[in-house]
Order: sequence, then C-alpha cells, then structure tokens
Amino acid sequence: MQEHWQEVMGIAQGEVRAFEFRNWFKPLKPVHWHNGTVTLQVRDAEFQEWFIEHFEPVLLRSLEEVLQKPMMVEYKIVDRNLFETVSPAAPAPPAATELTREYIFDNFVVGPSNHMAFAAGKAVAERSGKAYNPLFIYGGTGLGKTHLLHSIGHYSHQRNPRLRVLYITAETYFHDMTTSIRCKSMEQFRVKYRDACDVLLVDDIQFLAGKPRTQEEFFHTFNALHAAGKQIAFTSDRFPQELPELEDRLRSRFEWGLIAEIAAPQLETRVAILKAKAQRMGMALGDDVALTIAKQVKDNIRELESCLKTLHLVSATTGEPVTVAMAQENLKSYFRSRIRRVSVEQILRQVGHGYGVTDVEIKSRSRKKNIAQPRHVAMYLARRLTVHSFPELGERFGGRDHSSVMAATRKIDKQRRIDATLQQTLDDFEQKLRR
Ligand code: ADP
Ligand code: MG
Repeated sequence: MQEHWQEVMGIAQGEVRAFEFRNWFKPLKPVHWHNGTVTLQVRDAEFQEWFIEHFEPVLLRSLEEVLQKPMMVEYKIVDRNLFETVSPAAPAPPAATELTREYIFDNFVVGPSNHMAFAAGKAVAERSGKAYNPLFIYGGTGLGKTHLLHSIGHYSHQRNPRLRVLYITAETYFHDMTTSIRCKSMEQFRVKYRDACDVLLVDDIQFLAGKPRTQEEFFHTFNALHAAGKQIAFTSDRFPQELPELEDRLRSRFEWGLIAEIAAPQLETRVAILKAKAQRMGMALGDDVALTIAKQVKDNIRELESCLKTLHLVSATTGEPVTVAMAQENLKSYFRSRIRRVSVEQILRQVGHGYGVTDVEIKSRSRKKNIAQPRHVAMYLARRLTVHSFPELGERFGGRDHSSVMAATRKIDKQRRIDATLQQTLDDFEQKLRR
C-alpha cells in the first residue's frame, strides 16, 4: 500500500502545481486500502470538500494508472489539529487552533515594508530553533502578522513533518491557563506547552500585558522551550519596550532573538497585493482599479481585501464589470472614512505652534524643559498618528536613536494617564491634525 501510494503521489505531482501538491496532496494519509477503495485521512470537512471539488479527479486518474483499474476514494476526518501529533500519553489539547490554509509564504506578497519579517520567518521555519530564537514580529493591525506566523507553522511542518507545531493566540494561552488552574490540571497544561510541542507560535503577545500570573507561567514555558532548542515566535502590535505592564525579565527574553517590524506597505506593494488576491478570487481587476483602491486604502491590508470582496460581490450580483467608476461608487465608505494621513512635519509645526517653539528647536539637541517637553509630545503624536517605525522617527527628529523616541513615547504615555491637562492638550493636537 505504501509503495502504491508513493507511485500515485509521484504521478499526481506531475499533474498539479507545486504549491497545490504541497497543500492538497501531501497532507493526504491513506489509512485503509480495501477492495478497490482507498480511505484517506484528511484534516477537516472543509479540506475534504475543496479537495473533492478541485483535485479528486487528478487523484482518481493517478490511482487508476498505478493500479490499472478504477478505484474509489473515501475520506476520514481527523478531528484535531493536524499539526500537532499528540502522543497517547498527552491530553488532547482543549483549544487547538488550526492554521489557516491560505496563510502560507507563497501567498504573502513581499515588499520593502515586510521583507525583513518575511525573510526572518522563512529562516526560522527552515532552521527551526537555530536561526533566531525567539523571533518577534511587530507591526500595526492588518499588516500580515498572523499571516506570517501561520506561514512559519506550515513551512516548519512541511520542512520537518515530525515537528509538532502549536499555534495559539496569547488570549487562548491565558484562558487555557486559567481553566487549567481551576480544573487543577496544570500538569497537563505544562505537558502541552512544554513537552508536546516543538515549535510554539504565539499571536498577539501584547495581550499578556498586565497579567502577571500568566506572564509568570509563560516565562517558564518560554525558558523550557528555549533551553530545549525549540523554536518560539511571537507577534505583537507593539515593540517589546513599548509594552507597559510587562515584566522586565519577560521583555528581555523577547529581545534575545530577532525583532522584525512589518510596516505599512508602499503603493506598489498594495497594488501587488490587490492583484494577487484578485487572481486567487478569480476576479478580473484592471490596473486602474487596483491603483484607485491602493491610493485610498493605505495602512490596513485587511481593508484592501474587504474592498475587493465588495467589488466582487457587486459585480457578481449586478453583472456590472469592475471599473474605476464602479469602484468609486461602491467603495465610498472605505474611501471617505480614511483618516487623513498626518505627516511628521505637520506634527512638528502644530506642536511647535502650540508650545511657542520652532520645529528646528524641537529637532535640536537642547535639553531645556520648555523644548524637551514639546519634543516628547511631538514624538508621542508621531508614533500615534503616523505609520513610521521608531528608527524612522528618530531620523526625522534630528537624527536621533530609536531608543530616545521610544523613551519619550513611553514617558508621555505614562504622564497622560495621571495628568488630565496633558491628556486634553494631546487630544486637541490630535483633533487639529486630523482635520
Ligand atoms: P495582523 O495579524 O497583522 O492584524 P493579518 O495577518 O490578519 O494581519 O492580515 C490581514 C489580512 O491581510 C489577511 O487576510 C492577510 O492574508 C492579508 N495580508 C497581509 N499582508 C499580506 C501580504 N504581504 N500579502 C498578501 N496578503 C497579506
Ligand atoms: Mg493578527
């Protein structure tokens, strides 16, 4: 059976594209072979449906060619995370999260804004535990952090199917832990996160901020995995140093490996993403329409996708082709609700004006309080209202190191919580800038 199966796979491989073979044929597992029927184990009903619709004919042809007679195929669904080979002794994970099938490296459009994170993710998947450990990916909402993290999971497993990949959100980890404490099953919890896992992917780690008990446990999880040479990767919407209420010892762990930022994509990348998504949706999208959308929707890729879906739906229901005019008509809400992009120069001018200093003074080296405070406020606002990274902001604030921007941002963030006047000033600046 194993021999036949290898042969069948060999033929199928020649019939479909490489990534299709990898995603759809590789995961099939023949578990039973009887009287002209092959039973295949598959991940879930969704997988099965898609496979039957798109690839079953190829499989049937390949089977027939090898066995010299028509064969039948049956499917058996495994009701647990495919990427976790749980040993019989280990408890079944209570909240195993599936890796999203579409979130693979092949579907990730690379541009200057994300190529560092992409390359680091790939390196980590290729040399699990040996390239950068941990890998810490940070960036704003909807910029592809989760997509990259799942890709690492898929690719790690593909490179080495023996690796048990565990993907969770920090929130799941938190709930899992509180449940385990309540049910007195911490032993099992530890087996799951320390022993029964070779690659741990934790999404949205910022969720742990302000949860000392969970941080403490996570600190031990981290140490156990790291000491065993197991790969760990995180995502966060903030830089480790920007996470308030995070224990220093945990923060310092996050900085052991590599920190990679995902920034907002440039116009060219946004266009490329739109075209790639449209192609996968089987939708005709002209360059002019792609450009129209990309020019309006700038700092959230999820929104770019929503625009496409809207157009796709409108076009499917009305039969109208997707044109620039049609896009403008139907995407009004996306285009109008876009917050006006604020530049660092505008912030410098506005804040300078408010405090009665010049932008040159703000950018200067002066440490006088009447200049340092507006500088810190401007840095804080720039971090909030623009999509620039810390190093970029340092550059724009007179060629400073990223750490000074970071410190200023943190300082103002702390102050504003206890100082209502400052909060009011910040709100006023923000309102004026956004107008
Ligand atoms: P985040 O976790 O940073 O909030 P996601 O990973 O959920 O963002 O990404 C939002 C959506 O945008 C997803 O559907 C994802 O596939 C898509 N996306 C993000 N970056 C890219 C990219 N570089 N190429 C293709 N799709 C992308
Ligand atoms: Mg995410």
